[in-house]
Amino acid sequence: MKASLTGTRRDRDLDELGAGTAVDVLVVGLGVTGAGVALDAASRGLSVVAVDAHDLAYGTSRWSSKLVHGGLRYLAHGEVGVAYESAAERHLLLTRTAPHLTRPLPMLLPSTDFTTGWQDRAAAAGLRAGDLLRTCAGTSRRTLPGTRRLGAAEAGAMVPALRRSGLRGAQLSWDGQLCDDARLVVGLARAAAAHSARILPRCRAVDLHRDGATIEDTRTGGRLHVSARAVVNATGVWASDLTPHVRLRPSRGTHIVLSAARLGGLWTGLTVPVPGEFTRYVFALPQTDGLVYAGLTDEAVEGPVPDVPEPTEADIAFLLDVLNSVLDAPLRRSDVLGAYAGLRPLLADGDSRTADISRRHAVIDDPDGIISVVGGKLTTYRRMAQDAVDTAVRARRLAAGPCRTRRLPLPGAASRARLARVPAPRRLVQRYGTEAVDVLAQAPADLRRPIGPDIPVTGAELLWAARHELALTVDDLLDRRTRVGLVAAHREAALPVAREVLALAARG
Ligand SMILES: Cc1cc2nc3c(=O)[nH]c(=O)nc-3n(C[C@H](O)[C@H](O)[C@H](O)COP(=O)(O)OP(=O)(O)OC[C@H]3O[C@@H](n4cnc5c(N)ncnc54)[C@H](O)[C@@H]3O)c2cc1C
Repeated sequence: MKASLTGTRRDRDLDELGAGTAVDVLVVGLGVTGAGVALDAASRGLSVVAVDAHDLAYGTSRWSSKLVHGGLRYLAHGEVGVAYESAAERHLLLTRTAPHLTRPLPMLLPSTDFTTGWQDRAAAAGLRAGDLLRTCAGTSRRTLPGTRRLGAAEAGAMVPALRRSGLRGAQLSWDGQLCDDARLVVGLARAAAAHSARILPRCRAVDLHRDGATIEDTRTGGRLHVSARAVVNATGVWASDLTPHVRLRPSRGTHIVLSAARLGGLWTGLTVPVPGEFTRYVFALPQTDGLVYAGLTDEAVEGPVPDVPEPTEADIAFLLDVLNSVLDAPLRRSDVLGAYAGLRPLLADGDSRTADISRRHAVIDDPDGIISVVGGKLTTYRRMAQDAVDTAVRARRLAAGPCRTRRLPLPGAASRARLARVPAPRRLVQRYGTEAVDVLAQAPADLRRPIGPDIPVTGAELLWAARHELALTVDDLLDRRTRVGLVAAHREAALPVAREVLALAARG
């Protein structure tokens, strides 16, 4: 399946809609949920338009921890159904829909001076319950090995940055990790386009109606009415701006970006208990490009929702403090290369702390005829999309086939054995799968090199994004199709290549 998303195709699709073409489903929002809904609906044979006010993956979907969770934290809250759903969706992503974008990540949870023996035993029991969920979801130990206890020496050898004094050992468990959350969204949007969905970034829904929406093309300021039999509001944390029937309690999660080298070449995820809390942890998550993302905070946010949330100095200090509780050489503020924050679209749930609010999702078919799909998480986007489209099909009597997305690989997906044989650098295969070969082949030789000594991203990736992934601006290229922008100094260094690539793509 190959689908190119281009500016020309976007403009043609907009013209057709302006001429009065009506569709079955209008999806508002192109984060992971909206892109998932677009793919689900289009692959059932429905005609689909999906719009985003900004760009693919502009919202929360690019600010996640990039974990494909097995649902452990939901078990801790007694939400067995949500936990199982997570484990089942993780299985699909790791083995069928996106093996190229995901990998098994070892996670080490140390026992230290800051944890009691009782806490250690409770954590070990939780991890073993997670193993049981993994088995129930059908994930083999070859894909995700089981949990095992390590002695202090073995734990120290795996994570040399750990402080040895007080280290009593560790639990080693495995979870799923995405190479890049924004790339999952791009893959979903391209897959939807391959099933004829019209994917229209930079089109803001100004108001929603039972039979469609007023859309503003933010590039030209022009407005049009899109007629649709069903309207799905998948705008995440902004959902209540478009309908009064959704109540959310946004919560800010901040990550800091560190160098893996500064953490002794960290390659194992590190789970650090928050001192004084029972089921809260900070995670240090090694990426495949020499960086570590460490997060996350959970702070209730009041007032209007900003387009791009900002991490606070207090968030950053909290993360450094928790990490330093287990590190031999404490991290300083100057070690923080970058920081990002995202807002969780949590369903309002009484007065509980945001950390305690359920991560379940909801599909709300409201009295005004708008179907909103909110809450949930990245890992369960497919299930959220299926539930939303099932609701639309039932409520609006659409003629559609059954959901097919359990069996639909995203562009570039293949079995791990086949991915291992793709004749391209491993880093590219982890992002583009079998298409890694095409990414290189379409680029001139000077763009096939890394952009800089600390920036493994190549100009070839930027050119591919401009030609096939609807990247229209330098920001699209550096902040969403690639993640160069997470470190400001890297972004600055990459700007000339990004501009050169846009000019090259414009020449055809
Ligand atoms: C810090 C943090 C870490 C997380 N980590 C994980 C994790 O590791 N694993 C996991 O499974 N989940 C994780 N989550 C949860 C997950 O990221 C979110 O649940 C998910 O990304 C929400 O996706 P969404 O598509 O619903 O919303 P969004 O990604 O926010 O998408 C909404 C889109 O709607 C668009 N939009 C808004 N208003 C309009 C309008 N009027 N017209 C058109 N478009 C509009 C926006 O531009 C945006 O692109 C995390 C969340 C946070 C905050």
